[in-house]
Amino acid sequence: MSTELQTEISQAVERRRNFAIISHPDAGKTTLTEKLLLYGGAIHEAGAVKARRSQRKATSDWMAMEQQRGISITSTVLQFEYSNCQINLLDTPGHQDFSEDTYRTLAAADNAVMLIDVAKGLEPQTRKLFEVCKLRGIPIFTFVNKLDRPGREPIDLLDEIEQELGLQTYAVNWPIGMGDRFKGVYDRFKQQIHLFERTAHGSREAQDTVIDLGDNRIEELLEQDLYYQLKSDLELLDGVGPELDLDLVHAGKMTPVFFGSAMTNFGVELFLENFLQYALKPGSHDSNIGSVEPTYPEFSGFVFKLQANMDPKHRDRIAFVRVCTGRFEKDMTVNHARTGKAVRLSRPQKLFAQERESIDEAYAGDVIGLNNPGVFAIGDTIYTGQKIEYEGIPYFSPELFANLRNPNPSKFKQFQKGVSELREEGAVQIMYSTDEAKRDPILAAVGQLQFEVVQFRLQNEYGVETTLDVLPYSVARWVSNGWEALEKVGRLFNTTTVKDSMGRPVLLFRNEWNCQQLIGDHPELILSAIAPVTS
Ligand code: GDP
Repeated sequence: MSTELQTEISQAVERRRNFAIISHPDAGKTTLTEKLLLYGGAIHEAGAVKARRSQRKATSDWMAMEQQRGISITSTVLQFEYSNCQINLLDTPGHQDFSEDTYRTLAAADNAVMLIDVAKGLEPQTRKLFEVCKLRGIPIFTFVNKLDRPGREPIDLLDEIEQELGLQTYAVNWPIGMGDRFKGVYDRFKQQIHLFERTAHGSREAQDTVIDLGDNRIEELLEQDLYYQLKSDLELLDGVGPELDLDLVHAGKMTPVFFGSAMTNFGVELFLENFLQYALKPGSHDSNIGSVEPTYPEFSGFVFKLQANMDPKHRDRIAFVRVCTGRFEKDMTVNHARTGKAVRLSRPQKLFAQERESIDEAYAGDVIGLNNPGVFAIGDTIYTGQKIEYEGIPYFSPELFANLRNPNPSKFKQFQKGVSELREEGAVQIMYSTDEAKRDPILAAVGQLQFEVVQFRLQNEYGVETTLDVLPYSVARWVSNGWEALEKVGRLFNTTTVKDSMGRPVLLFRNEWNCQQLIGDHPELILSAIAPVTS
């Protein structure tokens, strides 16, 4: 390995920052993403991403369902530069397209930005995604959005994050006014006030006047009551809150908090600057040979998402790979850890929004899209040099369940094949009744769209029309101590026992309350909301 290549890899890792946004629908993820791209120079006028999306929709020959519903099913990565950093924003599918892929994307992210609507505070989807981030221990940066609208007291929101998520908070900036009187933000480190001016629809960078807290001009520029309010808020913050502790931030125990308005661009650039300063660069990953550093000179990465049928004409499949080490090069041949086969990666792609373009090289923290020759499954490792196998991506607790039926016995084989392939691909989890007489697979998903995709694909790719009977469960827990432990406790109430595709016991509950009750009654059962991929 040449020292030149080693230096190149080290420099590339040093520059990279990778993150995903976790939020509830409508908090402003699309708007913030667009504004980050605007500040990153990747677009010159906000609105372009949305415009391109709708243009794409009109001409797209993607999955018909995507067109019909006007949504994007694909998770993509947006890449842009800012302040000499290369930023990879992993787009987490949300809204109606919330699915297990949303969780899996977080397995490829080094940092998370938790986006909160100032009027709504923490919302269900944000909490769920937070749990996945917490499990991985990744740093969480909070952006409280929509300060240009009336909302809750900022201090209340900090309190909510601390109480409900168990995260310490540190407000890096502080809002000056709110709603119609939202004037700007105060940067606590530099002790500077940023006063913004709105631009039409926030389509260009906001005009930003920066003045020191002690500057006399404040009295001219800021109404007196807002100034006094700010001063008293700052005294309160300095008095009660802990200092910013980057070790705690990096361990996922403290969240730096920013306030702003993505729509009007207030506070967006300040957020981006600070985020880049505090965010983790690509780090090491645990594997069969121990922890592997991103500067390890051989290439390696893992598949975190598979996308089928982006273009039905070509029946192409794309495996999204998170690069963990070394340098990826076009046309390179890698080893596939699970099967031991050599695979030539002939058509690498990086993704910008929904457009695919070819790439020549990639480094740790980047995401590449590979045309999947049918060998890849979620969690697979590819590598060069000594064998590396990363820990797989776990199964996440499904919340929607349905019996999948094939009413046409002559299609039995296609049905079996389709279900099995879609499961392997990670489109949905499959469970089975413990009653041998009931052979219909149980589809288990985290988002409704997963059911629709499975039925759509069974029909289109395997020629099988199916029906779904929704089951009345909403909570699943794996019994970590296995069938033996279950047998010992005997009959259980208000739960149904099923087995997952690896034959492991899973308990299904109608609601969280029943689940909690069982945990209370049977502490000897070890229940888990997440199951490792390998048994
Ligand atoms: P997403 O569902 O999280 O992607 O949210 P969008 O970015 O689509 O935003 C949802 C709605 O909130 C849209 O109508 C946006 O224009 C609006 N919105 C986003 N950010 C702001 C903001 O900072 N202030 C206000 N007032 N509205 C916002």
